[in-house]
Amino acid sequence: MNIILLGPPGAGKGTQAQHLVDDRNMIQLSTGDMLRAAKDSGTEMGKVVADVMARGDLVTDEIVIGLIREKLEGDKQGGFIFDGFPRTLAQADALGQLLDEMGESLDHVIELQVNDDVLVDRIVNRAKEAVAAGGTARADDNAESLKVRLMAYYKQTSPLIGYYYAKGQLQGVDGLGQIAEVRAEIAGVLG
Ligand code: AMP
Repeated sequence: MNIILLGPPGAGKGTQAQHLVDDRNMIQLSTGDMLRAAKDSGTEMGKVVADVMARGDLVTDEIVIGLIREKLEGDKQGGFIFDGFPRTLAQADALGQLLDEMGESLDHVIELQVNDDVLVDRIVNRAKEAVAAGGTARADDNAESLKVRLMAYYKQTSPLIGYYYAKGQLQGVDGLGQIAEVRAEIAGVLG
């Protein structure tokens, strides 16, 4: 089973993806994690994306599609969870083509629905908790980048809601509940 977790920054995509990895042996494909890893290891591509990411803008479709293409060639286990990908219509089309070529289907697109005030609180708290735990906050977990990230979501990613709705694949889940409640609701959708 292959699924997309769709939703704005702070909606809980990464948290819920981790549960699906634990519960169903699925593979989490987070383009955000892949890009951060490239940045941290100082690859050429990592250098190119660092500023764009810190600002909160989207990196190019070409880069993220390339990252996903590579991962799809690996082990499938219980299927793929696309987390933070696709984020543009071009990425959604590319994903459809890649899955077709592999003879794979896209089984569910789950939209984690939250409201914007909650997102801002969650992200500000995520940054504070990281610092309190002795680590460093994500470079893009600050009020300035968050505005850009939210705008990128509404301008470039939210059209995917209509796109997958029209394909009959969209399922909404209330992302405002407790983590365990959201987890149970997603489990109900996936069956
Ligand atoms: P995330 O961890 O999913 O919030 O992603 C962090 C940042 O990585 C985003 O703000 C973008 O700059 C970049 N990024 C992650 N996934 C994508 C994607 N699918 N397309 C474009 N940029 C992305």
